[in-house]
Amino acid sequence: MKAVRIHEHGDLEVLRLEEIPIPEPGPGEVRVKVAWSALNHLDTWVRRGVQGHEFPLPLIPGCDFSGTIDSVGPGAEPFEQGARVCIAPGFGCGHCLACSSGRQNHCRSYGIYGETVDGGNAEFAVVKKENLIPVPDAFPLDLAAAFPLTHLTAWHMVVDRCGVKPGDRVLVHAAGSGVSVAAVQIARLWGAEVMVTAGTDAKVALGLENGASFGVNYEESDWVKEGRAWTQGRGFDLIVDHVGADTLPKGIWSLAKGGRIVTCGVTSGAEMKIHFAPIFFKSLSILGSTMGGHGEQLEVAEHVFAGRLKPVVDSRFPLEQVADAHRKMGKREVFGKILLQVDPKAPASE
Ligand SMILES: [Zn+2]
Repeated sequence: MKAVRIHEHGDLEVLRLEEIPIPEPGPGEVRVKVAWSALNHLDTWVRRGVQGHEFPLPLIPGCDFSGTIDSVGPGAEPFEQGARVCIAPGFGCGHCLACSSGRQNHCRSYGIYGETVDGGNAEFAVVKKENLIPVPDAFPLDLAAAFPLTHLTAWHMVVDRCGVKPGDRVLVHAAGSGVSVAAVQIARLWGAEVMVTAGTDAKVALGLENGASFGVNYEESDWVKEGRAWTQGRGFDLIVDHVGADTLPKGIWSLAKGGRIVTCGVTSGAEMKIHFAPIFFKSLSILGSTMGGHGEQLEVAEHVFAGRLKPVVDSRFPLEQVADAHRKMGKREVFGKILLQVDPKAPASE
């Protein structure tokens, strides 16, 4: 089968398209004929490497993917050949306290397809049956690959960690990122009002189309000042931040009393100076978040399949052009998900 494999970390040239044997599903596993795979920032970390973290090389990247079941291993019933599925990217050991409580992301041996084991940038992928999410016939497989990781991440941040409520004033930074697109939709689904920030007017406009009621181009206006006016001086109830050093310290000053700021990443830098006075005098919370539990993943999938949450696709590339897709991921004009078409015959929904 054709597969993208990384043998050593580095720039785009380490993404090698290779011919390797088709994997066999073991007990409790199925083999999926992959139709589409979506890119995440995680894929670029897997490619480049992270200091102090070891990836099992060689590795097939791709944490989000969809397709049809091709072969069912022993004990992986009732899943059947030909069934349309997408994949929950995260898995735990399946038997510890965290896993038994549905908090697989707290499991000490938590793993992610495409990061800890082979993922979906290949014609076939073997996954645990617990990770299969059946996709309704009417729902396109390209969109089914475009939501699991980002919508799970955003759901866990906004709903589980922050307990979003109707009427909350929510700020979502970097409107075009996959997690931000999902966070805006999820906050709106729960009856909150959302303001977004972005680096271009075009992205602000797309952020409004995605459900935000107000947007600020941070290259041209001061989002702190604009946010204060938008919340009538009260401040934000909730801030979704994965930018880090450039936004988080100011975000803390922009929160309303009892406000919460939740982070799932630090793209502009991890080290920052934080003034702690408002944290106690305004009873604020700073929360961290990574992925989410399997129950949340299924909850998100139901909303997506029912049309209440909508995956947003930025662009599509054939698998052979995986390096171009990674290059685009590194640029700032992306809004939503970049998809890799793994099966050239798989239909695109638009
Ligand atoms: Zn576990």
